[in-house]
Amino acid sequence: MSQYDYDLFVIGGGSGGVRAARIAATHGAKVGLAEEYRYGGTCVIRGCVPKKLFVYASKFSEEFEDAEGFGWSVGERSFSWDKLIDEKDQEITRLEGIYRRNLDRTGVEMHDSRAIIEGPHEVRLLSTGQTITAKYILVAVGATPNVDLSLPGGEHVITSNEAFHLSELPNSIVVAGGGYIAVEFAGIFNGLGVETTLIYRGEEILRGFDMDFRQAVHEEMEKKGIRVICEDTFTSIEKQDNGTLIGGTKQGKRLEVDQIMFAIGRKPHSRDLGLEAAGVEMEKDGSIKVDETSQSSVPSIYAVGDVTNRANLTPVAIREGHAFADTIFGNKPWVVDHSLIPTAVFSQPELGTVGLSQEDALKKTPNIDIYKSSFRPMKHTLSGRDEKMLMKLIVDADTDKVLGVHVLGPDAGELAQVLGITVQMGATKADFDRTVAVHPTAAEELVTMREPTEKIRG
Ligand code: NDP
Repeated sequence: MSQYDYDLFVIGGGSGGVRAARIAATHGAKVGLAEEYRYGGTCVIRGCVPKKLFVYASKFSEEFEDAEGFGWSVGERSFSWDKLIDEKDQEITRLEGIYRRNLDRTGVEMHDSRAIIEGPHEVRLLSTGQTITAKYILVAVGATPNVDLSLPGGEHVITSNEAFHLSELPNSIVVAGGGYIAVEFAGIFNGLGVETTLIYRGEEILRGFDMDFRQAVHEEMEKKGIRVICEDTFTSIEKQDNGTLIGGTKQGKRLEVDQIMFAIGRKPHSRDLGLEAAGVEMEKDGSIKVDETSQSSVPSIYAVGDVTNRANLTPVAIREGHAFADTIFGNKPWVVDHSLIPTAVFSQPELGTVGLSQEDALKKTPNIDIYKSSFRPMKHTLSGRDEKMLMKLIVDADTDKVLGVHVLGPDAGELAQVLGITVQMGATKADFDRTVAVHPTAAEELVTMREPTEKIRG
C-alpha cells in the first residue's frame, strides 16, 4: 500500500497534462488530475483548434471570389458570426467530452477544481479544501495572454481569449503584436470582412522566422487589404461615448476602431499556485525552471508545457508529458529534443517551416547555398488572384545537409510536417534531388530546384 493517495497528481487538463496522465495511468500508475476550467486546455478550448476553425471560416470570402475564374457564378453571400460561434462551441464541447472520456477510460480520477501546491507531495483542491498527497506532482497549467496593465485605457482591449466569444463581429479592429497570434487573427478578421489593422513594435513582423518569409507574409497581408503598421505601438486607448475605441500610438497616430486586440505574447500561468512556497525555483518571467527531464528544483515536482516556457507549442507539451510519464512510470527514459521543431503560422497564405532561417544558418556555418523559388500557385492562374508562393531550401555548402526548409503558400503547414521528417533524418540536397516529383503540385518545386539562387561563402 502506497503512503500517498496517488502515484501522480497532475495540475492542468491541457495537452501536456492530459497526455502525461493517460500515459502514466497506462503504465499502471494511480493518477489524479485537477482542472479549474475546461478539459483540453488552451489548444482545444481557446487556441489552436477554434483558431483553425476560424481560419477556415475566413477563407471562404476568397474562395467565393476565386470560384468565378473557374466558371462558377456565386450568388449573394452573407455571413453569420453567431452561427460560426455556435458551431465552433459545439465542436469544442464535443472535443472536451473526448478528453474527459479518454481520461476516464484510462482510470485517471478527475477533480474539477483549482489545485494549489502545499508541499513537495501535497496538493490542495480549492473546491473542497481537501488535501491530496502524491508521490509525484506534475504542473501543466499552461500560459495566459499578456496584457499591458501600464497602458492608459488598457482595460478596454481584448485578447485571443475574448476574440473567441465576441458578442458581435466588429466592423473594424486593430491587432497589436507581430507574432503567431496577431498575424493569424489579423487574417481571420480580414477574411470575415472586418477592416483590419496590425500594429507591431519592431521593424518586421514574425521575428525569428526567415526574413524573406517575414517580408512575404507582410506583403501578402497587405495585398489582402490588411493595414500593417511597423515600428509603432499603442501609448493610450480611449473609449468613446459611442463605444468605439481610439488608440493613440507612439508615432502620433489615432486609430479609431470597434475593437483592439492585444496579442503580445503569453505568460506562464504559475501565479498563486504555491510553487515558491514549496521551494520550486522560478525564472523571472514566472516560468518553472526544469531540467531536460522536466524535473523542477524539487525532485518530486515536474512541469511540462507552456508553464516552463521552452517551446510553447501544443505538440511539444504533449511530447514533454509523454516523455515524463514514460521515464518515471514506464521504465522507458527519454527526453524531448527541442532543437528541431517544425511549425506553421496559419497566416493567409500559410507559413510552414522547419530548421534554420537563413540568418540563423549563417550564425552556425559560414558557407550556405540558398535555393529559392517564387511563383503563382496553379489555382491562381485561373482565379486571377495576385498571390505568390515562396519556397526556400537552406543547404550547408560543405556537407550538402539541408538546414532549413520554408514554405509560404496553400497547405504549407501540412508540408512542414512531412518536411520535418526529412530534415530530422538529416536529408541532404542530393536526397531532395533524387526524389521524384509529384506532378502537378506546388511541392514538386522542392525537389526540382537545381541551381542555387545564392551562394554565401565565408
Ligand atoms: P509571440 O511570442 O509569437 O509574439 C508576441 C508578439 O508581441 C511579438 O511580435 C512581440 O514583439 C510583441 N510584443 C511583446 N511584448 C510587447 C509589448 N509590450 N508591446 C508590444 N508588442 C509586444 O506570441 P503570441 O502571443 O503571438 O503567441 C504566443 C505563443 O503561442 C507563441 O509563442 C506560439 O508558440 C504559440 N502559438 C502557436 C501557434 C501555431 O503554432 N500556429 C498559433 C498561436 C500561438 P517582438 O517580436 O518585438 O518581441
